[in-house]
Amino acid sequence: MKEIEKFKKAILEEYPRMDLDSEFSFKCHPGVTCFNQCCADVNIFLTPYDIIRLKKRLGITSGEFLSKYTLMPFDENSKFPVILFEMQENEKKCCHFVGEKGCTVYEDRPWACRMYPLGMASPSDDPNNTEKEFYFLLKEDVCHGHKEDNKMTVSDWVKDQGIEQYNEMGEHFKEVTLHPFLQNEENSLNPAQVDMFFTACYNIDKFRDFIFKSSFLDKFEIEEGLIEKIKNDDVEMLMFGYRFIKFSLFGEPTLQIKTNVAEAKEAELKKKKKI
Ligand code: SF4
Ligand code: SF4
Repeated sequence: MKEIEKFKKAILEEYPRMDLDSEFSFKCHPGVTCFNQCCADVNIFLTPYDIIRLKKRLGITSGEFLSKYTLMPFDENSKFPVILFEMQENEKKCCHFVGEKGCTVYEDRPWACRMYPLGMASPSDDPNNTEKEFYFLLKEDVCHGHKEDNKMTVSDWVKDQGIEQYNEMGEHFKEVTLHPFLQNEENSLNPAQVDMFFTACYNIDKFRDFIFKSSFLDKFEIEEGLIEKIKNDDVEMLMFGYRFIKFSLFGEPTLQIKTNVAEAKEAELKKKKKI
């Protein structure tokens, strides 16, 4: 992970910053001599939305996806768990989803794969920092797409690659990862809380089981219609997971405990105080 930290530093200090109107020339197609070269031995961080898209595409559960295709690296600088694509154990360390004709999960490929050769960075993790996120261009020797005469703006690329929906979902994830609770140096999550964060964000099917197979629904008021939605829709479940994290880990009033449960708890506490 030290290499990733070094790379982040270089991006902030050395890479020219681009905005949506910035232009660059690039084209990736099966005719380039480097075709498929970039789908090997690469660090690709997966977002919760990436995992939802891919596990649906593959017709497997989030748990199966996580155990077959991902790693959870330890990062002493991160206050929450991050997920990386695990590459195959062959000589080239190819991505599990690269085929002769390119990406076999193309329509559901992760955010980072859609963005390449662009990247996106924040000048600071502090949500109060008003400096805007910026784009940057990765020009790696292996990639010959930069030699193609195909000028476009960053905005064109974002639209063409279907990145907007991913960015929208990314904003919701950031409300959790950049939450003031985690920004406070004195705060950290204990192992049980890290596990809850991991489940609600990344292991959506396990989180659904927790909601529907535990006493959760007996304890919390849930808006009419939402129960059906989260039962059947992974994105709705994920959004609910973010609400749950804000409530249970960060102490925000994003969920409401049922009155009878709250009263019983209060009575129990009073009783304990008397003892
Ligand atoms: S998911 Fe597709 S685009 Fe991304 S690295 Fe794997 S094969 Fe390449
Ligand atoms: S290295 Fe660049 S041009 Fe070559 S396949 Fe990958 S993205 Fe396309």
